[in-house]
Amino acid sequence: MKLKNKGKSDLRVVIIGGGIGGTAAAVALQNEGIHAEIYEQASAIKEVGAGIGIRPPSVELFKDWEIYKEIENKSWQSDFMEILTGNRDLLIKEEWPLLTENSDERWARLIHRADLIHTLISQLPHESVHLNHKCEQVINYDDYAEAHFTNGITIEADLVISADGIHSKTRSMFCNVAPVYSGYHAYRAIINEKDTFGLASDNTLRIFVDGQVQVYLLPLQYRKQISVDITVPSKDPSWRPGIKKKDILKHLRNFDPKIQQIVESIEEFNCRALYDIDPLERWSSNCITLIGDAAHAMLHNQGQGANMAIQDAGALAIALREADSIPEALRQYELWRKPITTRYQKLSRQFPSEQNETAFPEKNYF
Ligand SMILES: Cc1cc2nc3c(=O)[nH]c(=O)nc-3n(C[C@H](O)[C@H](O)[C@H](O)COP(=O)(O)OP(=O)(O)OC[C@H]3O[C@@H](n4cnc5c(N)ncnc54)[C@H](O)[C@@H]3O)c2cc1C
Repeated sequence: MKLKNKGKSDLRVVIIGGGIGGTAAAVALQNEGIHAEIYEQASAIKEVGAGIGIRPPSVELFKDWEIYKEIENKSWQSDFMEILTGNRDLLIKEEWPLLTENSDERWARLIHRADLIHTLISQLPHESVHLNHKCEQVINYDDYAEAHFTNGITIEADLVISADGIHSKTRSMFCNVAPVYSGYHAYRAIINEKDTFGLASDNTLRIFVDGQVQVYLLPLQYRKQISVDITVPSKDPSWRPGIKKKDILKHLRNFDPKIQQIVESIEEFNCRALYDIDPLERWSSNCITLIGDAAHAMLHNQGQGANMAIQDAGALAIALREADSIPEALRQYELWRKPITTRYQKLSRQFPSEQNETAFPEKNYF
């Protein structure tokens, strides 16, 4: 499909998945005058997920898309990250690393994943987000594709963007990689700031480390809440392991009593085994591409999965602006993004430890 032969506003673009990658892609394309329809399997965009750190290159894109004000109002600037022992002895305190050319940008904006998705969706026409649409197959006809959904609906498109996460159905068209188990579980919860003994009442992201166990306290001050993330080694690769609070507390027996009390007070945890994928050889055809975790799921250690999805969306929109055809745009998009995402996938396999010399190993690579 030649872009110059078809007005951008006539392009039929389907996005599969309404997570951060899918909604960011729809906003980025809208900014280029390209309309996209999102198809999401869930029946509602729910309040699921944890706190995440949005980094300056992603913020630059929000400014380009003229949505930064809304994001700024629903997020909180963090200037520092600390690594401490389980007993709260400080090992490292660092400013966030510089990832842009602007030397002032040594920070991250901390935000709840749901607030980010809701802000992105609020930029889109209501009728362009279709819930209850689970994609079962995408068929490639080279210059167009068909997305088939389990509810019997089939949609034809000039471009299909698969933002369907780590279990992407579309990914098998390009490469047969299975998710790789990290050997770790993550137990997560959002709690009130008043229940954290002041351990996270400033704007610093803290990681308490004891051997292979880490407790993250990520402040969401604009909500007066804290995102708690406990990462522990486990041989159980079940995607959603059934873990009891007493089992979680056993891992924390060497931690400061206040940290144990914080965890003791949590009523419900979201328990997940942590998986990523190996880098793909390729992730686009002439009219189908992957973005976000579908293309390059990575572990949470560098806090870059959501940022990569947002920056994929930005790069794809720019490629579509500059290229003469969709195949050329998809080639360019992949060429720009793959070296960066591959590096973060590899780097994210390093878990924080008491031996770390920096809280940000990425700064030596980017
Ligand atoms: C504890 C934790 C902390 C994190 N912290 C950070 C951080 O600080 N910074 C950061 O950048 N990243 C962070 N991440 C990573 C980040 O959350 C993910 O990388 C990001 O959400 C990926 O977005 P995505 O849209 O590609 O995939 P997802 O968020 O997984 O969204 C995929 C969407 O597709 C839908 N879907 C799936 N299959 C289908 C189908 N067949 N048909 C239709 N819809 C479908 C799903 O329902 C979902 O809505 C963290 C992750 C974890 C687990």
